[in-house]
Amino acid sequence: MKRIVCFFITTLIFGFSMSAEEGMFPLSEIHKLDLKAMGFLVGPRDIYNPNGVSLVDGIINLGGCTASFVSGEGLILTNYHCAFGAVQAVATPENDYLRDGFYAAERSAEIPAKRYTVRLIESYRDVSREILTAIKKKMSYAQRSKAIEEKSKRMVVAFEKSNPGKRAEVAEMFRGKTYVLFVYNYIKDVRLVYAPPRSIGEYGGEEDNWMWPRHTGDFAFMRAYVAPDGSNAEFSLQNVPFRPKKYFPVAAEGVRNEDFAFILGYPGSTHRHKSSHYLAFEENIRMPFMVDLYRWIIGLKEEMSAGNRGVAIKLSSSLKGLWNTVTRSLGQLQGMKNLHLVEQRQREEISLQKFIDSDPVRRRKYGSLLADLAKVYEDKAKRSRRDLTLSNLLSNRISIIMGNAFKICEASHERVKKDTQREAAYMERNFDRTEKQMTMALRDYHEPTEKALLKEMLRRAAAFRDKQAIPAVRDICAGSEESMALDAFLQKSFAATKLNDPKIVSACLKKNNAQLRTMNDPFINLAFALYPDHREMKEDEKIKKGILDQLLAKLVDVKRELLGRDFIPDANGTLRLTRGRIRGYSPADAIRMQSFTTLGGIVEKHATHPGLASYQAPEKLLELAKARDYGRFAHPDLDDVPVAMLYDMDTTGGNSGSPVFNPRGELIGLNFDRVFEATINDFAWDESYSRSIGVDMRFILWSLAKFSGAERLLAEMGIK
Ligand code: ASP
Repeated sequence: MKRIVCFFITTLIFGFSMSAEEGMFPLSEIHKLDLKAMGFLVGPRDIYNPNGVSLVDGIINLGGCTASFVSGEGLILTNYHCAFGAVQAVATPENDYLRDGFYAAERSAEIPAKRYTVRLIESYRDVSREILTAIKKKMSYAQRSKAIEEKSKRMVVAFEKSNPGKRAEVAEMFRGKTYVLFVYNYIKDVRLVYAPPRSIGEYGGEEDNWMWPRHTGDFAFMRAYVAPDGSNAEFSLQNVPFRPKKYFPVAAEGVRNEDFAFILGYPGSTHRHKSSHYLAFEENIRMPFMVDLYRWIIGLKEEMSAGNRGVAIKLSSSLKGLWNTVTRSLGQLQGMKNLHLVEQRQREEISLQKFIDSDPVRRRKYGSLLADLAKVYEDKAKRSRRDLTLSNLLSNRISIIMGNAFKICEASHERVKKDTQREAAYMERNFDRTEKQMTMALRDYHEPTEKALLKEMLRRAAAFRDKQAIPAVRDICAGSEESMALDAFLQKSFAATKLNDPKIVSACLKKNNAQLRTMNDPFINLAFALYPDHREMKEDEKIKKGILDQLLAKLVDVKRELLGRDFIPDANGTLRLTRGRIRGYSPADAIRMQSFTTLGGIVEKHATHPGLASYQAPEKLLELAKARDYGRFAHPDLDDVPVAMLYDMDTTGGNSGSPVFNPRGELIGLNFDRVFEATINDFAWDESYSRSIGVDMRFILWSLAKFSGAERLLAEMGIK
């Protein structure tokens, strides 16, 4: 009672309020919730039980997406867009699985998905106290952040050493304050079982991405395999399907508008507890920078793809990712503007400052907190465009060859250090994965695209002057007209480099500094020349991280004092529970969005947009829909097969592929997106606009039964 009164008083006096409904609850919070009152028909022990079997045992982290087990034989259900990389990796112009879809009619035909791993949570424990002992009073900010990092790495390495086959991760829950050690079971042999044609799995394409109404059948099936003795093993024909402790049944009756539902998944990151300075930085600097750069790259890659199916397949995965980020960022930028989010947070901070100043003890503790935060971001802003340019130039998400060259150079500097002092990618526990990621990236290598990309990145990097100049790039351009100099450099370098060969990349990654220098590869040489600038940028990031860790920890403390209650930490890639209702919304005056779309809607979009490739559905699907061949998968209220559905749960990137459950914990759908207006929920949540999108389970079953004749999978899921 006292808490509630205190909350209302502070809300009234200081005009500071927080939505009561938002929620991505970490495992540690679930037992505090009144699940029954919320609408659950399962209890906290049914959701997570370290000593028994619970829903959590069926939830998978699949390389950044979420997925779940749907059979006792390791069958995995996730989004098409999460499995896309596996389909793309094996698609060719002759066997065009992107265009036609893929179905392994028998188990032996399931294809290894080499970039994929499965992680299953086994346990977690709060390790805040142990981690924070690493901090000593006299440490500088940079030393603090390094000390925390190293302590976490030591803990993880020690755990994995005494528990072979397991994977551990220390997750920072509240910045600079609370840390949790998560232990995962880990599976390396993952195979592709079923993917619909792209014209179903990505129906609506970029026109509809992040939009509602949506008709995307964003689902795919994979399978986890282990060695015959049950241990984790690389792909082998001897491997057998993994037997999960838990897998999910499908709710045959489906779901209706206003029904209660919940999701368990791995939301990536949200930033709701950061200050107005962070929001302004995102709105004015980082997001516009990335949108501008990615749009340029999209233009280039679309041009390169036109008229060449082989190139189009190679570039398709990266194009998809670039588009996804651009449209999401545009949604977020628009949301920030429409909601005046920075001003709103500034007003909250004025109230917070008043609250701080109203008490001398508080004032001593937090008096300069907001001003100190402002200072960090002011500093960061000064060099941010240059730093963003440099880090993108060195990233293999932009240029594969330059990114790999840089990793080779960085590895040679890192591998001489003690394991726990290295950058994470080069620690023994991650080294194989880094190598695999680098060599596999070369499958999508297309030299003309690489040349054009690097020319543009170098051109952008050459534009910085004085203190921000990047000397190694300016050296390339010295002496002649910039464009000609860059062309000449790239011409020569691509002719001489050997880094387009995966075997050479692997070998180089293990070479020391001196050995690499004698190789005289032009891209490795450039990476070495850029390394000092990169090091200096990293050092600066670590100092700022150290300062922010302390400041943001204080911000959480004082906000707690003001509100008189705890709140939920921002999403950080760890398992969370969210709940809500199947529900439409109103994006604008007089517009009401319904909560389901249907097969009939696909027929309609297809017919009314004849020139739009994204809306062209497979002929067979159209015929089935027109014949109203719904089997038993029609929605009773709609008299049609529901395709996608809307709900007001709190999700973000990483929740893709999360199972959507009815109150009993049975599958009713598969989460895959948010609506445009809801992308802003990474920064601020509100029930009125937060809507996520899932594929309805009935569409998934209908597609298997009617479109693909995938009887084997239906039988495996117990659907008769
Ligand atoms: N489509 C998103 C993803 O790729 C899901 C989301 O951000 O809501 O993870």
